[in-house]
Amino acid sequence: MLIDIGVNLSNSRFQKSIEDVLLRAKSAGVEKMILTGTSISDSESVISICKQYKDQFPNSLYATAGVHPHDADKFNADSANKLDQLCKEKPVVAVGETGLDFNRHLSDPTKQERAFESHIEIALKHDLPLFLHERDAAKRQLDIIRSHVNQFPKSVIHCFTGDKKTLFSYLDLDLYIGITGWICDERRGLDLQNLVKNIPLDRLMIETDAPYLIPRTMPNPPKNKCNEPSFLKYVIDEIAHHREESSEVLEVATSSTAIEFFNLNNANQ
Ligand SMILES: [Zn+2]
Repeated sequence: MLIDIGVNLSNSRFQKSIEDVLLRAKSAGVEKMILTGTSISDSESVISICKQYKDQFPNSLYATAGVHPHDADKFNADSANKLDQLCKEKPVVAVGETGLDFNRHLSDPTKQERAFESHIEIALKHDLPLFLHERDAAKRQLDIIRSHVNQFPKSVIHCFTGDKKTLFSYLDLDLYIGITGWICDERRGLDLQNLVKNIPLDRLMIETDAPYLIPRTMPNPPKNKCNEPSFLKYVIDEIAHHREESSEVLEVATSSTAIEFFNLNNANQ
């Protein structure tokens, strides 16, 4: 059984194919998926997808609720209230994605920090883990995490692509690490390929980040380059190769880590 902890199933590219994507995921052994919420309305969308497909795919679909750092400019008191309400919805198993993105600077850094702080507060209130994004902002993100160190929610850095120092800093703070098909990229994934063996087996989770980041190791990728959860095995095979472990060992470990991290056995769709 594989668990994909990051699927953007509300993306318009899946609009007409959600059921087929879920059926293909099941056939590929992807038993559970955490759908990523990236704004208030998008979080509402992924929650409703979970509800809509829960009878057809029982105990398979879960959601995060949060506002992506790219949208932090729009985050205000009203968003915080709405997020707080969304966290009471049954499919929600984590708060996020949230964090800092100083790569594309789509939102003002101060506003990103304010939104991040608000997500931390809400996660603590609901006793939910955090689903974190970070791009070119490790120093500031680590400062914020350290400033809460006595009371910081259990967290995963999703789609980790940082350097060794950053990886070890996150691990020292007891964070979990999500690895995507970035590792399958023979050009920009090289650092990650060298680093991945440093992640303790019980802190590692896997994700497609579909429809983005299609694994470049796929022999026959679809023409539209649309990634989907059924391609998760390419990510795990690549990780296994660089860790010199079997895919089976990684499959069992990453799934049990995800079940525990997101409390999926007690989550109620
Ligand atoms: Zn992200």
